[in-house]
Amino acid sequence: MKHIIILGDGMADLPVERLGGKTLLQYAAKPMMDQLAKEGRCGRLITVPEGFPPGSEVANTAILGYDLNKVYEGRGPLEAASIGYEMADDDLALRCNIINLQDGKIITHNGGNLETEDARLLIDYLNETLAKPINERQGCERVKFITGIQYRHLLVIKGGNKHITCAPPHDHPNEEWRPLLVKPDSRKDDGGRRKDDALTPEETAELLNELILKSQELLPKHPYNQAKAAKGERQANSIWPWSGGYRPSMETLMQQYPDIKSGTVISAVDLIRGIGHYAGLKIVEVEGATGLADTNYEGKAQAAIEALEHDDFVFVHVEASDEAGHDGDLELKLKTIEYLDQRLIKPIYEHILKMNEPVCLAVLPDHLTPVEMRIHVGQPVPFLIWHKGIVADEVQQYDEVSCVSGSYGILKLQEFMHEFMKIQ
Ligand SMILES: [Zn+2]
Repeated sequence: MKHIIILGDGMADLPVERLGGKTLLQYAAKPMMDQLAKEGRCGRLITVPEGFPPGSEVANTAILGYDLNKVYEGRGPLEAASIGYEMADDDLALRCNIINLQDGKIITHNGGNLETEDARLLIDYLNETLAKPINERQGCERVKFITGIQYRHLLVIKGGNKHITCAPPHDHPNEEWRPLLVKPDSRKDDGGRRKDDALTPEETAELLNELILKSQELLPKHPYNQAKAAKGERQANSIWPWSGGYRPSMETLMQQYPDIKSGTVISAVDLIRGIGHYAGLKIVEVEGATGLADTNYEGKAQAAIEALEHDDFVFVHVEASDEAGHDGDLELKLKTIEYLDQRLIKPIYEHILKMNEPVCLAVLPDHLTPVEMRIHVGQPVPFLIWHKGIVADEVQQYDEVSCVSGSYGILKLQEFMHEFMKIQ
């Protein structure tokens, strides 16, 4: 049996008064998902472990069957995987935003809509003027900046210690940046994982703060920012590292589930591709996959169909519903659910019917992104599981309310993947 998970990011919601008290999944026209729920089995899943924020990277890691307490290393290592940087065992990888500061405050977390081509110039400049002198002083390649996408980059500290507290810049707009500088967190230890010559939390925090402060002297001198200043536009005038971690010690899905010989992840989102990389999945590029409602649904469906031909496991992640939820756009979020139903799930389902080999299909979101709250909510999400010949339960439709009476009941975290992979 092959397995495919189709994940609509943030698709679940709460009852909305404008929809007569229905949720968006209850209201949207989604005959394909409803048919699969009717023919298959449903349930609900807790996707966010206690003590973790309801982030997509957390929920998707749990859905793929991993114990967050064992494998979660923050966004830095996931970004590293996504942009193709293979981490060494003694690397600390941090997400490194290039942000905009004014009058001692963080104005934006995105450097005033920095484009990737411009960012590449700034990152090269930082490696030359900021990293190089420090590396010469320390006699090793201690600091390395790596270009990512737009304002989202990577900072690698060789021998860096992850027990530090960093402030995610998007959580602190219009706040003074000085109190948000990196702080050591020496209460935790690494369980013998680090080498003797590695930095302590104090040394790591000190180095990162030196990098932040020096970047604020250097970046405004770069021609890109000089031109911005001349036009009175926002400069990309400070780095801001956060969410650092070590290389995740994740077993691949092939190691965890002997029935999976090879697998593929299809997603436009860096973090999800990063999780897929460490899970041992191939990352497939789909032209026109944007992470928004204008994404290439047909292209993603086609990529999934092709992957099903030669892989045992396929994970298709579609971001659009989450973005519409964050925008508080009810109509758009309804559309993203209907697009997912008709333009992605339907062609995949129709192809599965024609395949000689049986395929087990699951549909679920990772968390709620309610349109009226515009943030992630970590409540249980509805899921459906279908394959040819499955014995149906009572559930007639796919939504938050109907799935409460599903025969799977309520599953927790890794239990979903274990149950899903049991179906052979
Ligand atoms: Zn998400």
